[in-house]
Amino acid sequence: MQIHYRQGGLTVAEGDITRFDGDAIVNAANCSLLGGGGVDGAIHRAAGPQLLEACRALRQHDWPDGLPVGQVALTPGFRLPARYVIHTVGPVYAESDDPRGQLAACYRNALALADERGFTRLAFPAISTGVYGYPSAEAARVVADVIRERLPQLPALEVTLMFFSAADAQTFVQAAQR
Ligand code: ADP
Repeated sequence: MQIHYRQGGLTVAEGDITRFDGDAIVNAANCSLLGGGGVDGAIHRAAGPQLLEACRALRQHDWPDGLPVGQVALTPGFRLPARYVIHTVGPVYAESDDPRGQLAACYRNALALADERGFTRLAFPAISTGVYGYPSAEAARVVADVIRERLPQLPALEVTLMFFSAADAQTFVQAAQR
């Protein structure tokens, strides 16, 4: 894993989020919570079948109609190195009336949950920038704004933004430095 950029509680890295060893990783789930492709599929494969069972239980008890866009739900990490998974649902870029607000809500709500649980090491993937079609540079600006706004209030939290490619990590760093 290569670290590109580090500043005030934020690390930008290139790598596979399923390898992240910390309190929690964030999953870019879909509203069914029952698994999908991309990072969601990778997280379920690495965590093992108990994760799907835990997600089914969440659907049954807490979110019978699915997890709304921007909301967060917590499960254990099971076989992952990370202890917990914070599931969130990003906006589908082309279908959302407020992609910016919804993407920001994913990051804000995950940070708030991490704070509430006393987590100190948390990693995010680039939510919505895969199948959900959010342009990377645009998403990077939204994320940089949320990080700038919230991280100073969360001094105990070390946040890693884990990008799957070096190009996406660079895009973020450029957006954040603007
Ligand atoms: P969404 O449906 O929210 O767009 P995707 O999983 O399709 O979610 O993609 C979100 C981002 O996660 C993309 O930038 C993709 O390259 C990245 N990604 C896919 N697999 C992994 C992984 N194992 N670790 C980190 N990032 C990943």
